[in-house]
Amino acid sequence: MFKENDRSALMSTYARFPITILKGKGTYVWNEKNEAYLDFTSGIATCNLGHVPDQVTQKLHQQLDTLWHCSNLYDIPSQTKLAEGLTQHSIFNQAFFCNSGAEANEAALKIARKYAKDHGHPERTSVVSFKNSFHGRTYATLSVTGQEKVQIGYEPLMPGVRSLLFNEVADLGKIHNGKTAAVLLELVQGEGGVNLAQKEWLHSLQDICNKHDILLIVDEVQTGMGRTGTLFAYEQYGIEPDVMTLAKGLGSGFPIGAMLAKKYIAASFTPGTHGTTFGGNPLAATAGMATLTEMTKPGFMKDVRQKAAYFKEQLERLARQFSVIKKVKGLGFLMGIEVDMEAIKLVTLLQEQHVLTLTAGQQVLRILPPLTVTIEEINEFIQKLENVLLVIQEKDDLE
Ligand SMILES: *Cc1c(COP(=O)(O)O)cnc(C)c1O
Repeated sequence: MFKENDRSALMSTYARFPITILKGKGTYVWNEKNEAYLDFTSGIATCNLGHVPDQVTQKLHQQLDTLWHCSNLYDIPSQTKLAEGLTQHSIFNQAFFCNSGAEANEAALKIARKYAKDHGHPERTSVVSFKNSFHGRTYATLSVTGQEKVQIGYEPLMPGVRSLLFNEVADLGKIHNGKTAAVLLELVQGEGGVNLAQKEWLHSLQDICNKHDILLIVDEVQTGMGRTGTLFAYEQYGIEPDVMTLAKGLGSGFPIGAMLAKKYIAASFTPGTHGTTFGGNPLAATAGMATLTEMTKPGFMKDVRQKAAYFKEQLERLARQFSVIKKVKGLGFLMGIEVDMEAIKLVTLLQEQHVLTLTAGQQVLRILPPLTVTIEEINEFIQKLENVLLVIQEKDDLE
């Protein structure tokens, strides 16, 4: 199924599909033979405005001719502007910029420990996270990831991490043990199977955090930047987290990550306590600001929600029609269909139809169209998915 080449100059950290992508525009990408693929992965929730979006491209071109890099020892106006934009459109007061989701979560974990120490709780060094979560591949972030496959071979892991059951009310009582500095979670688990946090459970979780001054950190690396139908997913849950991390969609594909916090927490990061060379560099910040500007234009998110509702309806229609689909789940354009087969087989069959999708765990097909997808493109996707499901059903009937 995968292209295997022992003589590759690349380390094989990825099992790559035998597809070469050379060009992209909007919801389509093209291979070396100039054949088009309908891309319902958005580079894993990254190209949320589609490939090579005009407005971001234009701003990046201007910046490319002006200044690429400047040390964080100097004032970087585009970075300040992005911080102002993100804080204006969220409940947070200050931002720290880095280059990836893992780094954003690292920054969040570091500030949580520092905050506890700064407030007279040096014993609070522990973090609670949840089963089936995904938070990144650095030592600290793989340690808080609730999936063994990410951790095997890298032990010993960061000490003090406790992994509880997602959406399990009975586990909430275990959060506060006098040592917990922070709770870290995804509001919709992306890699772990497109699992939505339950509202009531989340509110109880927040109450516990508030009561004991434990930081509530939401990892919106995948759910953020419009993916779930609002700029940030926490808005739909009616909660007020203390810290939020972003990356994937923030730069429309240009690498950038961010950790945002309420002012009293952000105060724990003082000069010299944290940093990174490339964090919020002029090109990255420009990509971020151009992306945010598009997403906060009047009517943009409303349009996304309407299209996403239509998409969900169509997926639910297929679920009624084909017994191989067990469940349709997700929020906005972070959608999954749980199937009664290996989801990777479905990904491969769709690739043969020139449609790109992802998995989330063994039995969930993860579908992440760009927010700019058109109704026609949604219809094309649904038609091709239906074709593939018909073939699967016919095979099943013969057996
Ligand atoms: C992708 C992802 C990360 C890691 O981001 P990288 O940029 O790959 O380091 C962290 N958390 C979530 C929820 C993600 O989806």
